[in-house]
Amino acid sequence: MTFNKKSIEDVQLNGKRVLIRCDFNVPIVDGKITDENRLLGALDTIKYAYKNGGKVILCSHLGKVKGPDKSMSLKIVASRLSELLGVNVEFLQSDLVVDDDVRRKVGEMNNGDIALLENTRFRAEEGKCEDGFSKDLASICDIFVNDAFGTAHRAHCSTVGVAKFVDTAVCGFLIQKELGFLGGAIENPKKPFLAVLGGAKVSDKINVINNLLDKVDTLVIGGGMAYTFLKAQGYSVGISLVEEDKLEYAKDMLNKAKEKNVSLLLPIDHVIADKFSNDATRRVTNDENIEDGFMGLDIGEKTSKLFGDALKNAKTIIWNGPMGVFEFSNFNKGTMEVAKAMAESDATTIIGGGDSAAAVNILGFGDKMTHISTGGGASLELLEGKVLPGIDILNNK
Ligand code: AMP
Repeated sequence: MTFNKKSIEDVQLNGKRVLIRCDFNVPIVDGKITDENRLLGALDTIKYAYKNGGKVILCSHLGKVKGPDKSMSLKIVASRLSELLGVNVEFLQSDLVVDDDVRRKVGEMNNGDIALLENTRFRAEEGKCEDGFSKDLASICDIFVNDAFGTAHRAHCSTVGVAKFVDTAVCGFLIQKELGFLGGAIENPKKPFLAVLGGAKVSDKINVINNLLDKVDTLVIGGGMAYTFLKAQGYSVGISLVEEDKLEYAKDMLNKAKEKNVSLLLPIDHVIADKFSNDATRRVTNDENIEDGFMGLDIGEKTSKLFGDALKNAKTIIWNGPMGVFEFSNFNKGTMEVAKAMAESDATTIIGGGDSAAAVNILGFGDKMTHISTGGGASLELLEGKVLPGIDILNNK
């Protein structure tokens, strides 16, 4: 997949109907938006489009509905966006998302006007990428702009289908940034390139490990997934999280690292607990081995130093998955130390969304990273080397 995609800056917007697929999937509690980061993130692309004379039509999904559902209407988002932008965002209410009335209203828009369609998931075809709804969306625009990275790994009508029926399909600033940092790191990283993987399970990251071993100079593995690798090497891991059916896979990956000359670093000591609880009896091991009846819930100090030293030498660092159970204050130190080492590093530092993004923000290092991806699933699929359909469909430069 090429990451060299045309962006909104590469096309003439004046007088054109510009449909922007945003990610307005915000949490709403008691009729109030409780976290508006996604709205704030979308503003640059929207402002650019209307200031350059586009007739701007916004769309997004909200929640997991598969048909019309008033409680999942985007109306509230239109009001809040109007406040944030300081210009009116007209809400085009329709259970069909696009109908004749919506077409008529879009036809009456002036350059610089902004409108928001109803939740795209009000149309059951959305998730199946069926042509009917895709053509409906295409019928109200001249240019399609995808700026929803978090759903770029899903082929839906509003992310992929619509682009099949318009000549011009480009990315917005959010996706452009994701492609620049994440795509850039995968395609053409400054070396040494180091990846840190953690989190609960090996099985969630099988393809990520395999793909990254073809690209990185150093692979650091911590968190729950490390114990399967340690057990595969013959260490005792007590009652730590282990996926027995992935022991062979772990051995294969250890061999692949050797063949590829990749330095694969695993924990050399652990903070262990007698139960999965913040109040558990806590001990620190001397080495890789964990005694019977105990489980590893964090990396130890020696490991933090080992990982930290490796991070210091890197020029590009990608991190996905915490080093321990960071939600428990007694077991968050390893994750904190890695976040700190990344924050202090001169390397390009990229956080691959999901739990690691949450961990970095909770621990207060968010603003010290070069880039925090907005798409957990999408960034993981990029790291797996997969093609993201919502990006692949966009016009190449
Ligand atoms: P993931 O979504 O795969 O990145 O996994 C994140 C989850 O892994 C977090 O909720 C962590 O609490 C959990 N985790 C990290 N280390 C461990 C561990 N040693 N044992 C059990 N769970 C862990």
